Amino acid sequence: MAIATVNPATGETLKTFDALGDAEIDERIDRARAAYAKHRLTGFDRRAELLGRAADLLEADRDDIARTMTTEMGKTLAAARAEAAKCVKAMRWYARHAESLLADEQPARADVEDSGAVRAYVRYRPLGVVLAVMPWNFPLWQVVRFAAPALMAGNTGLLKHASNVPQTALYLEDLFRRAGYPEGCFQTLLIGSGAVEGILRDDRVAAATLTGSEPAGRAVASVAGDTVKKTVLELGGSDPYVVMASADIPAAAKTAVTARVQNNGQSCIAAKRFIVHTDVYDEFAERFTDGMKALTVGDPMAGDTDVGPLSSEQGRSDLEELVEDARGCGATVLCGGRRPEGLPDGWFYEPTVLAGITPEMRIHHEEAFGPVASLYRVSGPEQAVNVANDTPFGLSSNVWTRDEAEQRRFVRDLEAGGVYFNGMTASHPGMPFGGTKRSGYGRELAGHGIREFCNITTVWHG
Ligand code: NDP
Repeated sequence: MAIATVNPATGETLKTFDALGDAEIDERIDRARAAYAKHRLTGFDRRAELLGRAADLLEADRDDIARTMTTEMGKTLAAARAEAAKCVKAMRWYARHAESLLADEQPARADVEDSGAVRAYVRYRPLGVVLAVMPWNFPLWQVVRFAAPALMAGNTGLLKHASNVPQTALYLEDLFRRAGYPEGCFQTLLIGSGAVEGILRDDRVAAATLTGSEPAGRAVASVAGDTVKKTVLELGGSDPYVVMASADIPAAAKTAVTARVQNNGQSCIAAKRFIVHTDVYDEFAERFTDGMKALTVGDPMAGDTDVGPLSSEQGRSDLEELVEDARGCGATVLCGGRRPEGLPDGWFYEPTVLAGITPEMRIHHEEAFGPVASLYRVSGPEQAVNVANDTPFGLSSNVWTRDEAEQRRFVRDLEAGGVYFNGMTASHPGMPFGGTKRSGYGRELAGHGIREFCNITTVWHG
């Protein structure tokens, strides 16, 4: 895949970039390692000062970097601005909390005595150079979600960003440089995915984190397995959005539209499968479909656009194949199901609702990475749980119910890394984020995220 900025709203190639050669990659790994040797010795005050400065700069740059993101991957300008603001918030959150999250821990007094120690504690030390392989869908957020905790923990970062967001990738390197981070603390490597294996095998690189598709995750995890290196994987999702009979249906339907089409439908935690109790199915389906039909698809730079183009031609044809497969197997198209008319040559697709989904259809098992919703009718919580769990993925889940017994049951039974009631999944720096099953492993954000790339060290004094 060429490293290039191609505007998804027009299909026009705006800028291309040469990939780094082997010698340049080697030099950058060296720099990252040398920077780690110093950065690991800095105190939390200094690290917080640097990250706080990066947050201030990003806040000031918000409109410019938002336009770059929209140009490179097609999210609406409003969504891009919101993404930049979220990054600022996460940076400040880690600048403020990292020290306490990584404070020494005391084992129970009885266990210390039982071990024969006069004193013992657990210390969180950094791991080293962490390679981050990141996707285009939240080109700032996915990186900051890794970089803010990693840098606060004393690690250094190498970013291999998706090939279609090179300008956002270069912006990030420049942001950390301008914030005052010493050379090598955070570097962007403009490389194709073929170069990742060599970097991960390099002894100077300690660990890797990847957000993206399952094949990419599998490729990185197998090399990491072979070299015994720590990884965190945040892969795809096909999150259920369960609506039970006690739900506030107008609110559930309204939020469902946002949950499905956020980021032009290309979010791992977007709700994708809408599983609705038969008593409220008709009302929900009508309100939800009306909401999807009312969306404005168009130029992502325009203020009144709700849904911009998909990020790539391949992304749109993958989505079209899923819809055609479902249609061919008997699904009913309640709205959309085609390219919109009257728009320029970009990779647009109409917000789509499919009903009558069966397990024979690919969309039942695969992630629909675009504005396409699958509707299911269920008889009650038991069937809702069964349908919700009938997927290889387990990222997050959403349930609309006011019944507390049902809520307890869904928390107990849903196979997902999150259960969000009467709302939609949205990450927050103070809460762990990640999945189970083939959505990946490990956690990002909160204390759980910052400790993933730490050497959890037992210190024992006899
Ligand atoms: P990929 O998973 O292919 O890309 C994500 C990152 O991984 C990119 O930096 C990519 O580099 C890199 N990569 C890809 N293959 C390998 C490999 N074998 N070894 C090392 N690195 C690799 O996502 P796509 O853009 O192709 O999207 C395909 C599907 O992935 C989507 O339809 C969606 O289902 C899922 N996805 C999920 C995301 C999430 O947030 N969980 C985000 C993006 C996609 P390069 O760009 O150079 O190929």
